[in-house]
Amino acid sequence: MGETPFGDPDDDTLHEECGVFGIFNRADAAPFVTLGLHALQHRGQEAAGIVSFDGTQFHVERHSGHIGDTFTKQSVLERLPGTAAIGHTRYSTSGGGGLRNVQPFFAELSVGGFAVAHNGNITNAMTVQRELQRRGSIFSSTSDTETILHLVATSAARMFTDKLIDALSRLEGAFSLVGLSPKKMVGVRDPLGIRPLVLGDLEGSPILASETCALDIIGATFVRDIAPGEMVIITESGIESIFPFQARRPRFCIFEYVYFARPDSNIEGRNVYEIRKRIGAELARESQEAADIVVPVPDSGVPAAIGYAQEAGLPFELGIIRNHYVGRTFIQPTDSIRHMGVKLKHNANRAILEGRRVVLVDDSIVRGTTSQKIVQMVRDAGASEVHMRIASPPTRSSCFYGVDTPEKAKLLASRMSVEEMADFIKVDSLAFLSIDGLYRAVKEPSRNPLQPQFCDACFTGDYPTSLTDLEGSDTNVRQLSLLGGAG
Ligand code: AMP
Repeated sequence: MGETPFGDPDDDTLHEECGVFGIFNRADAAPFVTLGLHALQHRGQEAAGIVSFDGTQFHVERHSGHIGDTFTKQSVLERLPGTAAIGHTRYSTSGGGGLRNVQPFFAELSVGGFAVAHNGNITNAMTVQRELQRRGSIFSSTSDTETILHLVATSAARMFTDKLIDALSRLEGAFSLVGLSPKKMVGVRDPLGIRPLVLGDLEGSPILASETCALDIIGATFVRDIAPGEMVIITESGIESIFPFQARRPRFCIFEYVYFARPDSNIEGRNVYEIRKRIGAELARESQEAADIVVPVPDSGVPAAIGYAQEAGLPFELGIIRNHYVGRTFIQPTDSIRHMGVKLKHNANRAILEGRRVVLVDDSIVRGTTSQKIVQMVRDAGASEVHMRIASPPTRSSCFYGVDTPEKAKLLASRMSVEEMADFIKVDSLAFLSIDGLYRAVKEPSRNPLQPQFCDACFTGDYPTSLTDLEGSDTNVRQLSLLGGAG
């Protein structure tokens, strides 16, 4: 996840999107990790790191920037030798303290070297870190992932695996992590299984990855999802699976299906693209509008717009073209740059839009900046009507489990009704998918209000874990009392 930048305690943004990848028992392991991380770049674009083990020692390399720009094949082969390696790609606020928060984290422990890469967010990391500091631990980063290392280091258990179980049992929140010791690669998912993690195989070499698209890129086969609460311990003698934590009803992040995961990934038996099309079809059933064309906000709105158009029997048109050489607008640091970013990123195609009644489809409205700009652009290009359809329920609450969302007060839907939002983004009509519509799209009959099948806290405010670091603070205001870290 992200970090609390050193020296900037008032930073109120949370940045924590990450992907992890590991391969064991494979000659030249690091180049495979580089490719795997390249496929996971959408989960975090600001920094990446790889740790390899060559049978004697560990090698660590971490950079700011895209994996393809910073890890060249030659440098990886020379500087990261070994037959086992893990890596991490992340979003970070960078700045002064940026690199020291880039994962994987590595430390020499009493039981040997240990590297860890983490996707998710630990919601009691700051509390645990303070306790460790009182007992003398020294932290070199502000990442919650370093807290995991310290808990492993200070565990009273004797064996490495027991130390790790001991450490992880102290944590609350979301963690899908990959660890590497001299003899083992370990994969763990928190008991709720909030973030994804899959097991793959490349000609007998086991792989752990956030998403299946990272297996495809190297021609590896998908073996299975790591189960919520499962720890897999991979050694030269094989793969052991244990369930060391108290069992809980799983609550996978439903937003991974809406936006975060790559459409060509399969998560828990569902293809993300197919789910997004189903979401679009549900949206059309719930709130169809008389219109001439369905236009996606690219790229995030494309699969849902296809589903909407098919269900509504309307033509699907690329009325907005995206320039792919600009980073995601959402993660620009200031409002002014974010505004600029939208102009840099999208352009309306007048030939398609002029005189047409347009249904515009996007996956979500966060601050409302993107929608406002896009709607204006579509009107300027001559559309006669603009009807916005959002392929998720209104985002009313911040995520504390590893998705980059701003504080609650900056979420448009937390301070405006749907009608007010429609006025704000200046559309002729605005509709969001219902929460039950979203559940139907992911192939559940409806949301079970007593025992929800997914983590949908960003839409419902129903957080499936305690949020210890936030206790006593106002979550509207100080969401960054949370430590950053994994991503
Ligand atoms: P906004 O302009 O703040 O309303 O942002 C909405 C846009 O951001 C939508 O087009 C989404 O596709 C995208 N988005 C939503 N959530 C995230 C996220 N966690 N990280 C990056 N982009 C996001």
